[in-house]
Amino acid sequence: MNVSVVLFTADLRVHDHPPLRAALDGSRHVVPLFVRDRAVDGAGFAAPNRLAFLADCLHGLDAELRRRGGRLVVRGGDLVDQVCEVAREADADEVHMASDVSGFAHHREERLRRALEADGRRLHVHDTVTTAVTPGALTPSSSDHFAVFTPYFRQWSGQRLRAPLGAPRTVRVPDVASEELPSRPAAADLSAGLAPGGEAEGRKRLAAWLRSGVGAYEERHDDLSGDATSRLSPHLHFGTLSPVELVHRARGAGGPGAEAFVRQLAWRDFHRQVLAARPAAASSDYRTKHDRWRSERSAREDVEAWREGRTGYPIVDAAMRQLLHEGWMHNRGRLLTASFLTKTLYVDWRVGARHFLRYLVDGDIANNQLNWQWMAGTGTDTRPNRVLNPVTQAKRYDPDGAYVRRWVPELAGLDGPAVHEPWKLQGPARAALDYPDPVVELSEGLARFKRARGRE
Ligand code: FAD
Repeated sequence: MNVSVVLFTADLRVHDHPPLRAALDGSRHVVPLFVRDRAVDGAGFAAPNRLAFLADCLHGLDAELRRRGGRLVVRGGDLVDQVCEVAREADADEVHMASDVSGFAHHREERLRRALEADGRRLHVHDTVTTAVTPGALTPSSSDHFAVFTPYFRQWSGQRLRAPLGAPRTVRVPDVASEELPSRPAAADLSAGLAPGGEAEGRKRLAAWLRSGVGAYEERHDDLSGDATSRLSPHLHFGTLSPVELVHRARGAGGPGAEAFVRQLAWRDFHRQVLAARPAAASSDYRTKHDRWRSERSAREDVEAWREGRTGYPIVDAAMRQLLHEGWMHNRGRLLTASFLTKTLYVDWRVGARHFLRYLVDGDIANNQLNWQWMAGTGTDTRPNRVLNPVTQAKRYDPDGAYVRRWVPELAGLDGPAVHEPWKLQGPARAALDYPDPVVELSEGLARFKRARGRE
């Protein structure tokens, strides 16, 4: 066979890339293609922080391919039309791509398959490119997917993963026209502390993490000010790192830290197998509790305060400001801000999920929507009524208050854990603080939530 197209989607790398390897094994020439899909932009998913990271990834992928004699071909428009057109121009027999889990991705893949077949070409969809274990490969006896993590993880851990593939030595690309690679949006539209993207950056971060981070992960992953998690999530989202390779290399590092880290990678696969089986969970309750959530409109002031990090609860405000500043938030921060919005303010989880997707550089339909549902108690949590008290959480995960002082400069003058309860200050000390009173009393919020869930 002469020519194949490799369609890159959420797998923007040359290392451990089964579609690229299969195309190179079967063809003399390969067209590495990325399509900026109009439908993704149209759905409002193209947030500036992610577009900047994506631009870095595409430039990085192009550089990796050029080092091997090739280049990246970029097109914009309807993905199916563009792939078919490139396949025609290059006279390609086959198109290779990675499988994906959302309803949108499934529908798009089917459209592409039909359009290519109508042209006499074949689509090959490869598993274990964007997940370590294929969604749907593990099922309990009574369902088409696992709804509880622990039994899923037991089976997941017993799976034999394929061996990671090396990067190709040479890539020969035929003469096919390309648009310019996209550039980053204007800096003014981006979070100031946004991390750079790209495969080289991801591999550097991974090597540093395995060398000097993962060992302490088990004890330190919840330490908000210690910032001791991998920060590999955007690289997993854009596929500049391979989950299969990550699991292998973490297991190779060994020890309790690496085990705890691998468990988190299994959570990623877990949410993907839920979404693959229940695509509607991207926007509807996975398990409804018949909540009559406060809407964005009816809770406007509370929602604005939450988004901007001025709820009067320092730990919530610190985490929300980290999101705005970095386009990323610590997992403990995500948990407690999501609990605060859904359970203390009793606002619809979709309002929070939308705001996260607007800023998160790792913003991901499976991980974001299903973690939001987990915290809202409409998802897979086996204790759907759990509420995270922001003051208790703050004292446990930011015992000295350093995380709050970092992100809430108005409170930087308060020493130690006193920073978590500024409302306890008296007289002039309180009056001198330019910091709001709490938007709600915790006991009031809890009572409202209990009433709503009929648990009085
Ligand atoms: P590490 O602690 O180093 O973990 C390693 C990897 O494991 C992560 O990069 C991620 O891919 C995976 N992982 C870790 N925790 C989870 C989890 N709870 N669920 C699924 N995978 C996990 N993660 C996203 O990638 N995109 C999102 O849009 C997203 N939205 C979230 C929204 C809420 C409300 C909550 C509670 C969590 C969300 N998460 C999301 C999961 C988690 O917070 C992030 O993956 C993690 O904080 C990323 O930081 P890290 O790479 O340093 O993680």
